[in-house]
Amino acid sequence: MRVRVLGSAAGGGFPQWNCGCPNCIDVRAGAPSVRARTQESVAVSADGQSWFLLNASPEVRAQLESFPALHPRGPRHSPIAGILLTNGDLDHCLGLLSLRESHRLSVYATARVRNGFTENNVLYGTLQRCPGHTSWSALELGEPIELRLADARPSGLTVEAIPLPGQAPLHLKSRLGEPHPEDNVGLLIRDPARGTTLAYFPGCARVTPAVLQAASRAQCLFFDGTFWSDDELIALGLGERRAADMAHVPIGSSAGSLAAFATLEVPVRLFIHINNTNPILREDSAQARTVREAGWQIAHDGLDLRLDGKGLV
Ligand SMILES: [Zn+2]
Repeated sequence: MRVRVLGSAAGGGFPQWNCGCPNCIDVRAGAPSVRARTQESVAVSADGQSWFLLNASPEVRAQLESFPALHPRGPRHSPIAGILLTNGDLDHCLGLLSLRESHRLSVYATARVRNGFTENNVLYGTLQRCPGHTSWSALELGEPIELRLADARPSGLTVEAIPLPGQAPLHLKSRLGEPHPEDNVGLLIRDPARGTTLAYFPGCARVTPAVLQAASRAQCLFFDGTFWSDDELIALGLGERRAADMAHVPIGSSAGSLAAFATLEVPVRLFIHINNTNPILREDSAQARTVREAGWQIAHDGLDLRLDGKGLV
């Protein structure tokens, strides 16, 4: 399975347009220990020809241009066979509206995420210009389905949605009411021919035994790296909300994801969806060193992985 990190930052990107935190100041100044990142999205492929996007970020146009394998191979063509959504956050689905040039789209999402995007959304009309313009495949929790190519042939990949602790997106909280397990999912992408499984869990509020169990099925795990500490924004004077209020488990501390995954035997582990305030974005920080020494990578835009049943090829 081929995996390409198109974007590795949390919502807002790095730097974030209205942020003057130390990280954002330094990345704008071109400091060597920090590199800019676009908002989280990853492309996966079984054959290197047809690709599936995991989330569609607001920066999707530049992200597709950054990776030649995603360029058209004809006058009107795209190697993107489908788009999978992990939740309804705008940094995960706003990009769908940028893929509107009368190109057929195949989207995989839970019913909650689909409805959150399509209902009462006048802008969604731009993805319904003709019959069949946008087709949706329902992700049912715990039920693997085949990912299909544009001509409906199997792609060589399957997907299974795993409920992850989380919450509905901010803009839908008043409409969706009570939280629901379909609001936020992780994706297990499987390449049965190679015996490879990728766990894509970019947003997760707590590492529960079920999360650990699901992650342990993979050879490669992408996990929520939004914040290093629970009070990160408060300590920087940037807001009142804690990581827990935003449904993100922090990386550090005894209650963090690094400790929770300490015994996990997944050969390739990466933090993604990294907020611009996170000290791991500084390659020379103590926190980045701690993460690396624990066997984790810090995802960056343009990272390419090739996986087989054991891990990296
Ligand atoms: Zn910042």
